Amino acid sequence: MTKRILRSILLVAVIGLIVSTGATMGILYYHFGGQLEEELRREASYLSVSVEKEGIEAFESLPADAERVTYIDTDGTVLFDNRADEDAMENHSDREEIQEAFQQGAGTAVRESDTLSQRTLYYAVRLSDGKVLRVSSTQYNLPGLLGGMIQPILIILILMAAISAWMAYRVSKAIVDPINKLDLEKPEENQVYDEIAPLLTKINRQQKQIKREIADAKRQQDEFSIITENMEEGFVIIDVHTEVLSYNSSALKLLGAEESKEKRSILAMNRSQEFQRIVEAVLSGRHVITMLDFGDRSCQIAANPVFHEGEISGAVLLILDVTERMKGEQMRREFTANVSHELKTPLTSISGFAEIINDGFVKPEDTRKFAGRIFKEAQRLITLVNDVIKISQLDEGKLPYEKEETDLYELCKEILRRMEERADAAGVHLYLYGPHVKVNTVQTILDEVLNNLCDNGIKYNKKGGNLTVTIEEDGAEARISVQDEGIGISPEDQKRIFERFYRVDKSHSKAIGGTGLGLSIVKHGAMYLGAEVKVESTLGKGSKFILVLPEK
Ligand code: ADP
Repeated sequence: MTKRILRSILLVAVIGLIVSTGATMGILYYHFGGQLEEELRREASYLSVSVEKEGIEAFESLPADAERVTYIDTDGTVLFDNRADEDAMENHSDREEIQEAFQQGAGTAVRESDTLSQRTLYYAVRLSDGKVLRVSSTQYNLPGLLGGMIQPILIILILMAAISAWMAYRVSKAIVDPINKLDLEKPEENQVYDEIAPLLTKINRQQKQIKREIADAKRQQDEFSIITENMEEGFVIIDVHTEVLSYNSSALKLLGAEESKEKRSILAMNRSQEFQRIVEAVLSGRHVITMLDFGDRSCQIAANPVFHEGEISGAVLLILDVTERMKGEQMRREFTANVSHELKTPLTSISGFAEIINDGFVKPEDTRKFAGRIFKEAQRLITLVNDVIKISQLDEGKLPYEKEETDLYELCKEILRRMEERADAAGVHLYLYGPHVKVNTVQTILDEVLNNLCDNGIKYNKKGGNLTVTIEEDGAEARISVQDEGIGISPEDQKRIFERFYRVDKSHSKAIGGTGLGLSIVKHGAMYLGAEVKVESTLGKGSKFILVLPEK
């Protein structure tokens, strides 16, 4: 901008200089031209008075530096000329000023010289005897005058150009500097030129609009990030060249990729061939839903191409971690198979005994014995079905969730009372210690949990052994431990006894009426109550199951 202003000012100054110099020269030239003509007239009139009086002798007193004077006869013959030989001069009757003088008494003419740099001004006057007196003077014409003065003119022009260049530089700087110093962050606070005030107002308005739009975009982006960051599903958006445009941290975790500030291809986030094939397929326009294992996680991938004006512009990939679901499904399948198997055994026995009786192979005195066996198997079936129902209810969380204040001591006392008969039969002594700790809990479930632990404490105890239930209060927690002096559980088995249908010794468990679901019910029940179950056991010495309950 400075350069442009500088150039414009300079151009105007130079044109101004040239025009003003030319105009001044022209004015001076015509002014002096007019003066010269006036002088010629005056001289001619003085001289004509002398010539009228003295005739040709009047010219003898002409000074040497006088203007050129020519005396012409009535026929045009030159009678005298102070600058040339009159005899060698041609007849002057055809000269414009002479003819005019003959006819009108006076005449003027201007003729350019051969060199074109000079011109001659003629003034002729007719005397009383009809002869003509002509005075002439030569002066430089305009180009001649300029040519003669070219050097000083050029020097003045260059000087003036230099001065105007310097001034133009200062002026343009003075104009541009305040503009350069404008604070565009606060456009309306600048008070530089009134002319740019509308521009600054416009900038201010646009800045406010841009700020608003940026804030809106940022808010939207933040909302989008919050939503996607809270998604358990992995989420990746890519462009048509596989470059990642957006993703969430779940996607990083599932794909096993590192966080990166650099732009990168989705293919760099997971280099498995199957994943690359999915990306290729989706970018060729296919909708893909498939299962893929990333390390120890099983994932379902849903990849959708994104179209813009009929062309594929990218893709959205959703990655769902279905490991738990798969495990759950696997467990359910195993559970169903186990339940079917467990149901089949007593049913086969019942069916077998009933068939023998029906075929009449059983002596009347043995019928009772067989009926007793059928009853026992049926009881087993009922226990099993009841346990399965309890497990399913706990699994689905369908039990009534009503908490009530429960005195743990009273509850344990009641459970042990119910066990007395069985404990007697097994030769096990029951003990209960501890204070009357009150907790707010779902009593039916806690009853079920403790019942199973005490039942196992009797089942897996030794004859004459003790089963001791101890209640303790520890800060905000209540602990109930169920300790027996039975067969104990090895450390390896301790890890698995809470699994469904897991029994350390299957035949022993069956013989004593176990279903293999008791501890599984304990685990699920404890989870339902927000409690924790721990086991401490030594083979051959006994086991201690500890239930840690939150009091409130
Ligand atoms: P079960 O109906 O067979 O008792 P549980 O789920 O209650 O099934 O227990 C799983 C297995 O854990 C039992 O078969 C048994 O081998 C072992 N077990 C449970 N409680 C005890 C205990 N108090 N002492 C020793 N072993 C136990």
